[in-house]
Amino acid sequence: MVLADLGKSINQALSSVTRATGDVDEDTLDAMLNEISMALLKHDVGLAQVAKLKTNIKKKVNIKETLPQNRKRVIQKAVFDELCALVDTQQEVWKPKKGRSNVIMLVGLQGAGKTTTCTKLAVYFQRRGFKTGLVCADTFRAGAFDQLKQNATRAKVPFFGSYTEPDPVVIAKQGVDKFKKDMFDLIIVDTSGRHRQEQDLFDEMVQIGDAVKPDHTLMVLDASIGQAAQLQASAFKEAADFGSIVLTKMDGHAKGGGAISAVAATQTPIAFIGTGEHIHDFETFSPQQFISKLLG
Ligand code: GDP
Repeated sequence: MVLADLGKSINQALSSVTRATGDVDEDTLDAMLNEISMALLKHDVGLAQVAKLKTNIKKKVNIKETLPQNRKRVIQKAVFDELCALVDTQQEVWKPKKGRSNVIMLVGLQGAGKTTTCTKLAVYFQRRGFKTGLVCADTFRAGAFDQLKQNATRAKVPFFGSYTEPDPVVIAKQGVDKFKKDMFDLIIVDTSGRHRQEQDLFDEMVQIGDAVKPDHTLMVLDASIGQAAQLQASAFKEAADFGSIVLTKMDGHAKGGGAISAVAATQTPIAFIGTGEHIHDFETFSPQQFISKLLG
């Protein structure tokens, strides 16, 4: 089931309340909450988050204290607010500062969309007046540098990488130093991914981090992997302590719930979402917009 189906199921549950002819009572509310909970669980949202949402809505609505004529409106608002809370950490998303060199490091598993996201990010900030450079410190995946080079050239973003240096830590340091010397405002470092969370991947990430001292670390997370997103994000959080998430492939068959759980598990905000393979298929993330869109 795709994300749109989740919206449809929640809307259906809500309409059982909004279309009710008589007064909405505790039983109607409970039935609606059960339906919403089932839909969220089916879409890979974790049990703990679903239970919390249910309790919070019941508390907010407080049906016995709410006048019958106000109940439908109060329920609708509580559902919307609690769905937003699932993806809202209430933290401000990091922004690069003008007048200095800002370094961002991207981490994530192979195939999550790191290299694609690097260029998207570069274009996004270039358009906002930041002189931006890309560093390819992915020496693990054959062709990673060529891919980044091709994307960067097409997007007219300066890049740095090496065909001969095998040590990603050395490349990362050289690239960042070079762009810093050339007074770049934003330096984006792409790192290697692996198929699974492996210790050597985490060790390498930490070493690159130590070498380039990023101002911000972004985790690139594939939205289509469902509940695995929660575990993956937690493991990376422990190793790399990333400050925000980029959710990729939100255009595809993403269930979305896994992403919601990843946010809850790491208490880390989603900064951007990837909505396609093209450079401009990239948006900033807003919890309210995301939920409004979900409910269509
Ligand atoms: P990396 O291994 O993490 O560097 O992943 P890549 O950047 O090479 O991306 C893996 C695949 O996912 C490529 O085919 C990308 O075109 C595709 N991809 C990346 N982001 C998105 C997205 O937001 N939507 C879609 N549909 N595909 C994406």
